[in-house]
Amino acid sequence: MALKTLEDALVEELEDLLSAETQITKALPKMAKKATNPKLKEAFETHLKETEGQIERLHQAFELLGKKAKSKTCEATKGLVKEGEGVMEEEADPDVMDAMLIGAAQKIEHYEIATYGTVCTWAETLGLDEVHDLLGETLDEEEETDDKLSELAESGINEDAIEEG
Ligand code: FE
Ligand code: FE
Ligand code: FE
Repeated sequence: MALKTLEDALVEELEDLLSAETQITKALPKMAKKATNPKLKEAFETHLKETEGQIERLHQAFELLGKKAKSKTCEATKGLVKEGEGVMEEEADPDVMDAMLIGAAQKIEHYEIATYGTVCTWAETLGLDEVHDLLGETLDEEEETDDKLSELAESGINEDAIEEG
């Protein structure tokens, strides 16, 4: 379909996000399982639950826009998840693995922050207040998750990974 308006672009980007979030719900349980630090495991599990809610919000946004919820493969997330899987296959000391898992997860969060930032601004510009609020809630969760991961990395996980064993 030809994209004629900013609203068309918004819908297409929401389709990309639906694909991204769906891919992320499949990646997070693997990352939680691979993590050793209990707080990191918990952070991944918490974000899995949030991600399920984010998918629900996307469905609500499609409904508000009068569109059928559709998913259009997000190639960026596909690549980032693939990179994360590569990390998980490496032979690494558990502390080093935790530090690398945080790095892989933050790449995904940053992609989400960029994309939700864009769609939030578009929804605001279009005067779609309810859609804007829904997407804004998710943007907040992504930012909080990114902050939490930085905090975990800086409050011991990176230090633990400095030395062997
Ligand atoms: Fe998300
Ligand atoms: Fe994408
Ligand atoms: Fe996220």
